Amino acid sequence: MRSVIFGSVFLFALCGSASADMYIMQPSPQYDHPYRGPLIEHALPWRDARALCGQMVPKIASLSGYVKRPDACAWRAGHVCHIVVPAGRDVPAHETAAYRRHEIGHCNGWSANHSGGR
Ligand SMILES: [Zn+2]
Repeated sequence: MRSVIFGSVFLFALCGSASADMYIMQPSPQYDHPYRGPLIEHALPWRDARALCGQMVPKIASLSGYVKRPDACAWRAGHVCHIVVPAGRDVPAHETAAYRRHEIGHCNGWSANHSGGR
């Protein structure tokens, strides 16, 4: 598994950038289930989600080559998993839900290279 350590924070995830009808990859089946530990969701407007994820993931973003400015991200601090998802009036609810499912997959150990994603 690819992870980058910032202090005691383990970073797992990146997501795609926004568009009107974007495809948001879903986790492979083994990681596609509720997170069994404490989960803290940061549901933010697009701009704020990008800003926060941009602060959290710049190194892994440049390493992975996936997305320079992710719209969503996840990281674990001990057993606590944090996810950042875009939400609010400018974000369709089904997209927020898809981002949530994607990021929780990372909480469950789905690798940053999205192996097995669908
Ligand atoms: Zn991801």
